[in-house]
Amino acid sequence: MSKQVFDYTHQAWTQDGAYLDCGHYQAGTILGPGGLNSGKVFQGCDCYGRAHEGEAVSAEILAEMDERERSVITSNNGVRYVLEGEA
Ligand SMILES: [Zn+2]
Repeated sequence: MSKQVFDYTHQAWTQDGAYLDCGHYQAGTILGPGGLNSGKVFQGCDCYGRAHEGEAVSAEILAEMDERERSVITSNNGVRYVLEGEA
């Protein structure tokens, strides 16, 4: 199972270097039952993941996600995170 990584720049989840759908309702879905919005028609969302589902993540964003992961792991463990293949 491959890991999902969040693209903070576009606020979207990615997996295996491609964007995933946001998982919100599809436009036109009738909401409910219950709740304030019950019976209303969902107008859709403008999430990056939905608009770009399946598209490849750019090298620039991949590098940014990698850098963020390193800094998180380093601050959590106090141990320098070394990617596979690095000295
Ligand atoms: Zn969405």
